[in-house]
Amino acid sequence: MNLLIGGMALALAVTAWVIHPMIFRRWGLLGDGSTADAVDREARRRVALAALKDVEYDRAAGKLDEQDYREIRGRLEAEALRAVRAADADSGSARRKSHTCGFANPSDSRFCAGCGQPLT
Ligand SMILES: [Zn+2]
Repeated sequence: MNLLIGGMALALAVTAWVIHPMIFRRWGLLGDGSTADAVDREARRRVALAALKDVEYDRAAGKLDEQDYREIRGRLEAEALRAVRAADADSGSARRKSHTCGFANPSDSRFCAGCGQPLT
């Protein structure tokens, strides 16, 4: 019985240890919340631009007809424009530094959030 309780306590402790960064990051206790938001906006910008590129590839490959292409492209363009403007508002400040991969990282970053390489 004690082994079962001990095992459950250990499993609970391990689970809490694994998920705590996800919870505390959102609360801003592990780092600067504005930095996390800036990284999120930069990631959204990259995803939106990649989605636009994908829809162009799909059209070139003949996977989309003209009507679907125009509908999807219009929606993705509006989304990409919002994402680029939000990310540009961040990169306009001096707190950003661009890595060679093109990802704009917060100035206090030690590693690139885009590719994982150490920043010099
Ligand atoms: Zn990088």
